[in-house]
Amino acid sequence: MAVTQSYPGLATTHGRPINATPAFKVFTRKDIDNITPLRRLTIQHRQAMKAVSAVLPFRVNNYVIDELIDWNNIPDDPIYQLTFPQPEMLRKADFDHMYTLVAKDAPADEIKVAARAIQAKLNPHPAGQLELNVPRDGDEPIPGLQHKYRETVLFFPAAGQTCHAYCTYCFRWAQFVGIDELKMASKQADQLVAYVKAHPEVRSILFTGGDPLVMKSKVLRRYIEPLLAPELSHLESIRIGSKAPAYWPYKFVTDDDSDDLLSLFDDVVESGRNLALMAHFTHPRELETQVAREAIRRVRSTGAVVRCQAPIVRHVNDSPEVWSRMWTEEVKLGAVPYYMFVERDTGAKHYFALPLERALNIYNEAFQKVSGLARTVRGPSMSASPGKVLVDGVAEVGGEKVFVLKMLQGRDPSWAGKVFFAKFDDQANWLNDLKPAFGASSFFFEAPMEQMKPRQLPTN
Ligand SMILES: *Cc1c(COP(=O)(O)O)cnc(C)c1O
Ligand code: SF4
Repeated sequence: MAVTQSYPGLATTHGRPINATPAFKVFTRKDIDNITPLRRLTIQHRQAMKAVSAVLPFRVNNYVIDELIDWNNIPDDPIYQLTFPQPEMLRKADFDHMYTLVAKDAPADEIKVAARAIQAKLNPHPAGQLELNVPRDGDEPIPGLQHKYRETVLFFPAAGQTCHAYCTYCFRWAQFVGIDELKMASKQADQLVAYVKAHPEVRSILFTGGDPLVMKSKVLRRYIEPLLAPELSHLESIRIGSKAPAYWPYKFVTDDDSDDLLSLFDDVVESGRNLALMAHFTHPRELETQVAREAIRRVRSTGAVVRCQAPIVRHVNDSPEVWSRMWTEEVKLGAVPYYMFVERDTGAKHYFALPLERALNIYNEAFQKVSGLARTVRGPSMSASPGKVLVDGVAEVGGEKVFVLKMLQGRDPSWAGKVFFAKFDDQANWLNDLKPAFGASSFFFEAPMEQMKPRQLPTN
């Protein structure tokens, strides 16, 4: 139930007041019967939801339910598809098995065991995430830190390993189901600062998760403030990857710590660094509410930049109109379109995946519709094991139809900008489905990747 509250401290330098805001109310699997609009579904349908959400994490909140989903358009509504579990997200045999257990009211333990078995088949740690990217300090891996590209460190704050709602396509779900015990934020922050001090090649830190903005602003400050020290002048930018502008924009507007958050952004900007809010917007609907627009306006008022990125997935945003509308809205709000990602090879991939050729066509058609200001976007891009690989186009070269690919970011820094070719394949969904063109026996990165492998890696 939505409780209204007023926020007297709101009329700050950052913006005009929004008088009432709903209290954050979260719904997970155990609340499925208490989500009012779901009562229009049959019991079987809700049981199906419980079956799927035992395997893939489900979490939604009152803003998503009340403001983003058009309940007259389910199940096709894109935000409903984005957040609510659908039967086809599991393979049929797996779904049937889970459904039978839920329908006969099997004990929780039995459901959990069956769910774990299915989860294990869903490639929970794609693209060598675990083995290759964790930096070691002597012999100890540094928890929460990944250093894959020379200039950029990815940091996962322990207290930010959840989100205001979960995306059904998320590849981070393995972190959400059975999360390890949380570590102390300040200890982790010390390790981060020590690491950046010792690594002058690091120019940018990307806070990611989960969603770092589920943290209270004073906890986030504990991580970020030490990074602003003058000894770390090689650090040029701090980025925060977040879906809060889409799932809980009140975080920037009316939450009791929203002014603190903006002050922290002010401090980063004042330290002479770039602060980028890497906003995850999946669908233009998420940009249409007044509070989302106010959130972007307030973030920008600190001098921070809002850059936008999302994967392209079936059922949610697989049309050129959706992307051109989204990029156009972003530009109107002063945000910068940054990446269109190809969904990774994990989770409910069979439900969401679309061929690279289709993603490229949608990208190009959307790109043709927008002005140059929206053409800052790059994609479709695969975050694969060797690096970020852009599907730049399809061409015919010497009678052979090929994908033109470009490495945007490479595990080896000298790979960035390299163009290479793969045989055209209208069924390929990911880099590991592609074969080198022109009779080559391997892609340029394969042999050097072999050298880097400390252990066996997945082949994507
Ligand atoms: C995308 C990404 C980054 C950031 O790359 P930029 O090209 O600087 O945006 C950093 N680390 C990892 C692992 C990434 O996937
Ligand atoms: S907001 Fe990001 S991390 Fe959270 S569920 Fe969505 S994709 Fe995953």
